[in-house]
Amino acid sequence: MDSFCEQNQQTNVLVVTLQAQGHINPLLQLGKRLVSKGLHVTLAILTNAPTNSSSALNSIGSVHIEFFSDGVTMDYSREVDMDYYMDSVGKFAPANLLAFIRSHRRKFACIITSPFLPWVADVAKEVDVPNAMLWIQACALYQIYRRYYNQLDEFSSESNTNMSVKLPGLPVFSADELPSFVLPSNTVHSIDGILNTVFHSLHKVKWVLGNSFLELEKDVIASLNEAGCPFWPVGPLVPATLLGKEDYNDHDGYDIYKANSESDCIEWLNQQKPASVVYISFGTVLSVSVKEIESIAAGLKSINRPFLWVIRSLENLEFGFLEEIKEQGLVVSWSPQTKVLSHPSVGCFLSHCGWNSLLESIAAGVPVIGCPQWTDQPTNAKLVMDVWGVGVKLKMNSEGVISGEEVGRCVEEVMSGPRSEEFRKNALQLKTVAREVLADGGSSDNNIKMFVNEVISSCSSHSKQI
Ligand code: UDP
Repeated sequence: MDSFCEQNQQTNVLVVTLQAQGHINPLLQLGKRLVSKGLHVTLAILTNAPTNSSSALNSIGSVHIEFFSDGVTMDYSREVDMDYYMDSVGKFAPANLLAFIRSHRRKFACIITSPFLPWVADVAKEVDVPNAMLWIQACALYQIYRRYYNQLDEFSSESNTNMSVKLPGLPVFSADELPSFVLPSNTVHSIDGILNTVFHSLHKVKWVLGNSFLELEKDVIASLNEAGCPFWPVGPLVPATLLGKEDYNDHDGYDIYKANSESDCIEWLNQQKPASVVYISFGTVLSVSVKEIESIAAGLKSINRPFLWVIRSLENLEFGFLEEIKEQGLVVSWSPQTKVLSHPSVGCFLSHCGWNSLLESIAAGVPVIGCPQWTDQPTNAKLVMDVWGVGVKLKMNSEGVISGEEVGRCVEEVMSGPRSEEFRKNALQLKTVAREVLADGGSSDNNIKMFVNEVISSCSSHSKQI
């Protein structure tokens, strides 16, 4: 095999991701940081496009973008059945990735991926390249899953869903604050299986990086390190513009769902008063029911505050209830979220508590109203309320849905209630720290530098051996 640390050339790193917005965003941002430290980065996106490893299709900023086939037929809608999709990817994509790497003109010194593609570690071993995992959720989730899948603590069982769990470095979690995959009610078995594999094969991964920062999750990161599980936080992996840096000349991202509403959102926000707007988005995976949309609309109507609301499946909606509040706000099917959150008119974020959305809100200093549904969201909402003190969580009614009154009550609590100043102050403090950790010498910046040094030195020592 050729040396993958080419003499007198940049060290090349391959980053592999599913074509999911919440995965691409942090992996792309990590790629940009590695480029800024002198590495050459290729981001390979699993997609239904036919494998084409010979030609560069694009680049974002200075990260080189390529695509390879996930092995699922072109006409299959990837959002229909997550279990089917993830199982198929696990069966067919490894051979495609192997072929992609072998035929690529660059030799890679390291392969980085998210936890949701655990088979990448096997491909990396086959081509004899060290492997890093970017944990793309809170470090808290890493600790919960590590302990759950290794059976280090007792979690809820069929017969006991009311129990609470206390894990090192974390607050006490009740069953409804734990990630859905560790509950008996979980129905998405592919992800459960993937996480189980990840936490039984950590020995295959040379570095575990995390999209978090030390100062945000100090106790749990310390407890992982004490337990001999090195976890290097390198976040928040959000666009540089959100961290107050305009100098990257590199604002672009890779938006799967981009709509033509970007300038509409910013122009509309420009006309609103400072810190007056309720921004609402439930990310890219959740499908919000018509009932929930009705409740949010009723809640917004009752408080009469301006809102910017992302509803992804606009075409399927009857607009009766939205008609009544259309003068009050703007409804779009996609927003330039990081630009929206850093706009001075935004006063709070009603969010599903996806990890990227939360980190973006933290980096922008915007308080949060959590409306979590599944996966890591309930745990993230707990951190928002009880650990960072930057917001509140919507309570479900006895039928398990949110009511309009509850939406109105929570928005008022965060915007003008007795604790609103405290939420804003805490959010602004975290915003300051988020900038410091990525500045030269900050905790995340140091971890990125250490990682880059290790990749370069493991690459040189490997070259000497072959
Ligand atoms: N996003 C966006 N515009 C939207 C909705 C979402 O740019 O209208 C981005 C958002 O900034 C975040 C990502 O999509 O980076 C969603 O990731 P998250 O982890 O918050 O949620 P998921 O979609 O994975 O549930």
